[in-house]
Amino acid sequence: MKTAVVTGGASGIGRGIAERLRSDGFHVATLDLNPPAEDDLAFRADVTDPEQVAAAVDAIRGRIGPVTVLVNSAGLDGFKRFRNLSFAEWQRVIEVNLHGVFHAAQTVLPDMFDAGWGRIVNISSSSTHSGQPFMAHYVAAKSAVNGLTKALALELGPSGITVNAVTPGFIDTPMLRKSEEAGRLGGTVDEHIARTPVRRVGTPADLAATCSFLIAEEAGYITGQIIGVNGGRNT
Ligand code: NAP
Repeated sequence: MKTAVVTGGASGIGRGIAERLRSDGFHVATLDLNPPAEDDLAFRADVTDPEQVAAAVDAIRGRIGPVTVLVNSAGLDGFKRFRNLSFAEWQRVIEVNLHGVFHAAQTVLPDMFDAGWGRIVNISSSSTHSGQPFMAHYVAAKSAVNGLTKALALELGPSGITVNAVTPGFIDTPMLRKSEEAGRLGGTVDEHIARTPVRRVGTPADLAATCSFLIAEEAGYITGQIIGVNGGRNT
């Protein structure tokens, strides 16, 4: 049985992906800031801290084996006019969304090289297709994740490792509902649904199905791709 690590796996999209990969037959461990106490494969690690990530991955290796699947879903959004954005706010959003992917990927790659097989899926954002006002730090970080995805796909393909990014748009998670409550969506979720081509909000299961496919053996010819899951809001 292969071992998968899902960062941000305690909530929203990451949680949906972890559940789906479990039902696909993977051993799944999660890394998160606040892991659920009842799950003994949920590890506490801040993805911006390489030592915490390394310690958690070492424990996972010891418990369930080398990690050959990595889904990077840990993320932090932010909403502020660029001219008022402090460098510390800019830096934290870049650290979580971009540096977190760097640390997690570097930590698990030795296992993938040893296996001659691996799958990395980065959860990016549909805002990278269109831009998004008041989210310059977030859009910059996620756009960098798309670039990292393409570069790694070329570099790691010869080692049997595929690297893809999925760009969600408007997925019903705590992150989306917090934005709605704070009035940052430019309308309610229901108002947005009326303007969404498929006329519904996305779900973690929509992302989980996409990840499940990209991780499957038969997706081995798909790498370096940025795949939108957004109900047609971005084409
Ligand atoms: P979510 O429910 O807030 O889940 C994000 C998870 O990441 C949370 O469990 C959070 O922990 C964790 N996390 C945050 N910072 C972390 C850190 N430094 N180290 C470890 N874990 C950390 O949000 P979501 O909507 O599922 O988002 C998942 C991914 O999809 C994110 O990368 C997000 O940017 C992306 N995304 C979501 C949407 C959407 O519509 N929902 C759209 C585009 C992109 P805490 O809750 O304890 O902080």
